[in-house]
Amino acid sequence: MSNHWDIVIVGAGTTGIPAAIKASERGAKVLVVDVADKVGGTLHLSSGSMSAAGSALQKKKGIEDTPEKHFQDCIQINHGTGDYDKLRLWQENSADTLDWIMSIGLEYPDDNPVIGQGHEPYSTARITTPATAGKAYAAVLETAFNEVLESGNVELRLNTRMTDLIVGADGAVEGIVVQTENNDREEIRASSTLLACGGYSNNDELWEEFHNRPKRVYTYEHSKGDGIQLARKLGAQLQLADNLIMTFGGTVDVDKPDDHWIHTATFPAMRAPWEILVNNEGRRFINEEEESQDFRERTIMNQTDWSCWLVYDQGILDQAPQLFISWDAEKIERAFESHPDYSRADTIEDLADKCSLPADNLKATIDQFNKGRVVSSDQWGRKHTPAPIEKGPFYAIKHYAISVVSFGGIACDNELRVLDANGKSIPKLYAGGEMLGLGIWGNAYLGGSSVGGCMTMGRLLGERFLNWETTAATAAE
Ligand SMILES: Cc1cc2nc3c(=O)[nH]c(=O)nc-3n(C[C@H](O)[C@H](O)[C@H](O)COP(=O)(O)OP(=O)(O)OC[C@H]3O[C@@H](n4cnc5c(N)ncnc54)[C@H](O)[C@@H]3O)c2cc1C
Repeated sequence: MSNHWDIVIVGAGTTGIPAAIKASERGAKVLVVDVADKVGGTLHLSSGSMSAAGSALQKKKGIEDTPEKHFQDCIQINHGTGDYDKLRLWQENSADTLDWIMSIGLEYPDDNPVIGQGHEPYSTARITTPATAGKAYAAVLETAFNEVLESGNVELRLNTRMTDLIVGADGAVEGIVVQTENNDREEIRASSTLLACGGYSNNDELWEEFHNRPKRVYTYEHSKGDGIQLARKLGAQLQLADNLIMTFGGTVDVDKPDDHWIHTATFPAMRAPWEILVNNEGRRFINEEEESQDFRERTIMNQTDWSCWLVYDQGILDQAPQLFISWDAEKIERAFESHPDYSRADTIEDLADKCSLPADNLKATIDQFNKGRVVSSDQWGRKHTPAPIEKGPFYAIKHYAISVVSFGGIACDNELRVLDANGKSIPKLYAGGEMLGLGIWGNAYLGGSSVGGCMTMGRLLGERFLNWETTAATAAE
């Protein structure tokens, strides 16, 4: 094939693969490039929950649901924030996305859909999660994509990084510049360019710039914000970084200290609390039994450094159910021996010293917790207080507000054309998925919005939104 395509798609991930499959069904000649050595993008890490309203699966289970009910739930959960047009776009098309992904082979456990408990609950069961999480979508999409590749109209280039956008004299985007597998620079021309290259959650500078704080994330290595940076260089409008909301309770992985992920069961729906949570002033700041994840998220973001410490003693360690979700004893011990976020000391004073907490405050906090449980009157109203904190050694694990996604992104109209600072579309440039920033769903986590939203945007881009003119160059193929 020549180097002119109807559509070039940057990113063979959650958004890009559905877009490529659907555009090829409309007869487009499509080139997909990805910097990674495999397709699937963030789906390889994602927990894979997806929400959809009015799906065939819900109907089969006798669950009555509509996009309107989904929308009303979302604006209640997100306190009326977010981009209502994009919310409706996702919700009105989410059932078709779920039906489609199931039609090409995706299977869910028998008890799906569920209401879900990782985020604020919806009013009805509309969340589906495959047994092997996001990897299940990656596998099914890859199989369907391979069939499309065999058609000859579509080509995939892995290990190929977009480094620039090509812009014509009239300001229209004419394609991309890539760095090939062999480190060569190559220009790729296309009638339409789709940026589906994910967010910036793995980019220190953008995180610092958008949120004025260090990044604490667990994310795909290639989520560097390349698409956002290049669209921005062209004058695209940035949006919604202010809608940032962080997940409660990530800890550092001692084997990969840059990764902050949920390794401990501090969410009461998973395990009733035995330990206490103290902020960096050494004081409790929340009822550890608080079930609203949204409330927990907002509360940790109100603490100094958006972090806190989970504190317990040897008595609790001996009696309580396993705190770590998947680490074995050797890794837990290694954490306490090697990383300052995991502290252990014979006295509360020494523990406070190791964690840089005011010792008097920490001591008073622990005394108050112990006294409260004796008279069944916990300061924060907590009911489950099975053991005091009194027997050394004492332990503290630092917990952070973390993110797995990026909230800021570039503005697009309702057909996902990229907009400039004046709200005018940049000709022939489209974007989908986390490129838009998950702030479009508002200042709250909506269960299954990202996988569902990204995949729906990709499907719609391929089925309807992407336009191209077949040029002499492509027609001659
Ligand atoms: C741990 C974790 C758990 C999650 N759990 C859930 C969940 O349960 N439910 C939910 O709804 N969401 C969840 N998410 C979020 C969701 O998975 C993502 O928001 C979504 O998959 C992003 O899709 P995308 O298409 O925007 O990006 P991706 O799927 O990441 O695709 C982008 C692709 O672009 C490529 N790329 C990047 N830069 C370039 C470049 N310069 N040139 C060429 N290619 C490039 C990347 O390699 C990648 O393949 C989770 C995320 C994580 C990390």
